[in-house]
Amino acid sequence: MNRSPISLTPELTDSWDRDHLWHPYTSTIDPLPTYKVVSASGVKLKLADGRELIDGMSSWWCVIHGYNHPVINEAAKRQLDSMSHVMFGGLTHEPAVELGRLLLRHAPEGMNNIFYADSGSVAVEVAMKMAVQAAVSKSGSHRKTNFVTIRSGYHGDTWNAMSVCDPVTGMHSAFGTSLPIRFFVESPSVKFGQVWDPRAMDEMEATLRDHSDEIAAVILEPVVQGAGGMRFYHPQYLAELRKLCDRYGVYLIFDEIATGFWRTGKRWASDWAGVSPDIMCIGKGLTAGYLTMSAVLTTREVADTISRGEAGVMMHGPTFMGNPLACAIAVASLTLLEEQDMAARVGHLELRIKELLAPASSMKSVKEVRVLGSIGVMEMHEPVNMARFQRLCVERGIWVRPFGRLVYVMPPYIISDEELTELCQTLLEILLIEEQA
Ligand code: PMP
Repeated sequence: MNRSPISLTPELTDSWDRDHLWHPYTSTIDPLPTYKVVSASGVKLKLADGRELIDGMSSWWCVIHGYNHPVINEAAKRQLDSMSHVMFGGLTHEPAVELGRLLLRHAPEGMNNIFYADSGSVAVEVAMKMAVQAAVSKSGSHRKTNFVTIRSGYHGDTWNAMSVCDPVTGMHSAFGTSLPIRFFVESPSVKFGQVWDPRAMDEMEATLRDHSDEIAAVILEPVVQGAGGMRFYHPQYLAELRKLCDRYGVYLIFDEIATGFWRTGKRWASDWAGVSPDIMCIGKGLTAGYLTMSAVLTTREVADTISRGEAGVMMHGPTFMGNPLACAIAVASLTLLEEQDMAARVGHLELRIKELLAPASSMKSVKEVRVLGSIGVMEMHEPVNMARFQRLCVERGIWVRPFGRLVYVMPPYIISDEELTELCQTLLEILLIEEQA
């Protein structure tokens, strides 16, 4: 196989972009290529040279209903004509109230208060601040401010979010001693589908027992650890963790930013365990990829404990809090989810992805194939050459962005069987090309 670079047509690249715009995690000296998109519809991205790509990434988990959805477009246009933004300090509006009602209707039991934030990372910041304010208020101790998390986690790129990302594969080393130091315990040792072993809780229990006087909360991604390794673990871990948090007086935060809104086959990943957190972060699919917005949900106990504390208020208030346009879009997206049998839809996608990716398990470059809900992961033995891999994808009409040793798909839920087949089969073809290269 010819491994020479596939030439990018001038329409597909943009030298001004290359010289001036930072893309995620990108070097200015040696940036990876970026492909110019001119429009997107359904599951297809249209490139500047007219080529169309089947999107296997849902634009990083968020475009759950596909691009350019007529119902969401209509809701956005209607809201735009009424008001796109108004401050949330001292004012409120119907889209915020309606969204709140919908969210509580679907939220795990016990959730009562909602804080709208700007992005996933900011939701994590807000959740951690909530936990600290509530823990200090409840215990009367200013020492109860730290966090426990599990290795291989990812929670975003802002300061506190970074501090609970995996300490080895996350961003810790780049920031030296500037990040707060957290308690890390091993990632859950029992995988999804394996037989539960109670010893999986030993390190977590010891950490909580020995340090509960300095720990405000445990924070983790329920069941699926996303950007930290695409690992799927046993839901019993969450049920046991809930008991431990209650026993040692520590709050429990679930980061459902990637896993929420049916991505794992359940409405929330925590539904696999049937447990509720004290605080929960949602984002990404919340606005179906239309606008940046997230939310932090919590119990009345946490909210009122914060309000009885020294500050007397929740100490956060972003400019774009409760943005009406984003709320109206989220309402439309949630309504679309309500109108469908999502368990059946994602269950179907899971079956198809399992069938389609199954042949990869016998490929020599592939270490493991795992599928949960509409997430299909192929863990490779060696890191993938992202630039070359993406060129092969673009040439063959699909959009997949691997990282490290992980090649994965999580398509919009509306993908047809034909498109899903093309996406997965093309991906396997590319893996074969790479093996033979
Ligand atoms: N938490 C998790 C689990 C995520 O996957 C992400 C984004 N990949 C974030 C937080 C951060 O969200 P954002 O990129 O919107 O800040």
